[in-house]
Amino acid sequence: MRVHLVCILLVVGLVPLYAGMQIMKTLHWKQGYETRLEQIKEQGIALAGRIAQSGYLQQQMQPDITAQLQVLSSTFAGRIVLVNNSLVVVKDTAGREEGKTLISEEPICAMRGETKVYYNEEEGIAQVVMPISVGVTAESSGQVIGAMVLEGSLADVIAEHNLFQENTVVLMIGVAVLLLVVALVVSGVMTKSLRTLSGRIEQVTESYDGTQIIETGNYLEVERIAGAVGRMMDRVAATEKSRQEFVSNVSHELKTPLTAIKVLSDSLVLEPDVPIEMYREFITDINAEIDREAKIVNDLLSLVKLDKTSGELNIAEVNINELLEIILKRLKPLALKRGIEMVFESYRTVLAEVDEVKISLVFSNLIENAIKYNRDGGKVMVSLNSDHKFFYVKIEDTGVGIPEEEQGLVFDRFYRVDKARSRETGGTGLGLSITKSAVQMHKGLIKVQSIPGVGSIFTVRIPLSFVMTVQ
Ligand code: ADP
Repeated sequence: MRVHLVCILLVVGLVPLYAGMQIMKTLHWKQGYETRLEQIKEQGIALAGRIAQSGYLQQQMQPDITAQLQVLSSTFAGRIVLVNNSLVVVKDTAGREEGKTLISEEPICAMRGETKVYYNEEEGIAQVVMPISVGVTAESSGQVIGAMVLEGSLADVIAEHNLFQENTVVLMIGVAVLLLVVALVVSGVMTKSLRTLSGRIEQVTESYDGTQIIETGNYLEVERIAGAVGRMMDRVAATEKSRQEFVSNVSHELKTPLTAIKVLSDSLVLEPDVPIEMYREFITDINAEIDREAKIVNDLLSLVKLDKTSGELNIAEVNINELLEIILKRLKPLALKRGIEMVFESYRTVLAEVDEVKISLVFSNLIENAIKYNRDGGKVMVSLNSDHKFFYVKIEDTGVGIPEEEQGLVFDRFYRVDKARSRETGGTGLGLSITKSAVQMHKGLIKVQSIPGVGSIFTVRIPLSFVMTVQ
């Protein structure tokens, strides 16, 4: 990021500077070149007037004009050529072309009354070609009787321009160095908070102790990143804590039946003459503990499977009335054993897009709990209703109830309000967390209301149409 920032600052600073220098160079050259041309032209016009009046083109008898031509050509470090109207060179200050006929574009244009300027870049010479006319007045440009070619060297203009160019290059390098220093300082200041933040993140990553990453830099964005990273770390820590708790709970839960089995079997093995009745009793207990262990393992597997296959639901249209009736029928013997009455109330026929197996698990767990945690001779009321979006199942019991402060915890894995009672009834503490996972997979909602000693109401709300989550 720092390198990018330096590059941006350099580009932002240097590009306009470079463009400005190019414009200045062009203007400088233009100014030097045009000033020189103006000087040549001015002198040329004055001379052309005198030549026209003196008849110098016919006979070169005026020594003062000849002298003036020489002075002028040496002033411009160049040459002056005079051509009469037959294009014959009558005077060449360099003495090279006299008597020759000049058939080229320049004098021909001048004969038409035009003044033209040529620049020979290779030799560094500017050439002004102008007509020599008689009878020039304010209204008329007179009659062209010849042409004058004035050549002037631009060596001094070029030399001065080259010096100017060199100076601009030096200036440009100076400014570039200055900009680089400024860019390094500015980028250093701007990225300082980020560097500190990344250092803190690394520190925290090595050993997270719950302290928040607080970056009190000057930048709101950096503070936001620090906050977001802090929240992420908290979440990771919470997940890790829950994972550790889960592992320790699983180990504990699995160990309890094993310990019981070990104690029972030890007493059988270590006792030399165990009466057959005691054998039978202990073996029955061992058998029950094995069943319990198997139930915990099965519930754990269901839970893991629910986590793994979220999104892999087997969705089909299911008649919820029929589904609840089947579950109630299956659980009826359990209720009858304790004289519990079961009532099913349905307001309408509900067809919903659900995973039948998982939704059966939800209602089986809830109805089974309503029986398990009920009092003998109690009542379980199941009702089904729907609107245009959801269906609602309410499972109400007249059981022991759940204290208010524990109502939010019963969906946690292995959480049991009354450990002894749950154990007695063969509970593993996993039923409600399996139920909640399955409901959430259907984008549903589960709620509990309960009054200890009076009973509990579990309400489930599930969308009638399955909502696919885009992953
Ligand atoms: P368990 O296998 O112990 O029944 P659950 O996850 O199904 O596990 O339930 C967790 C705990 O919530 C139970 O141990 C019980 O204490 C309490 N609970 C669940 N349903 C009811 C209910 N209908 N009435 C009273 N307590 C309940």
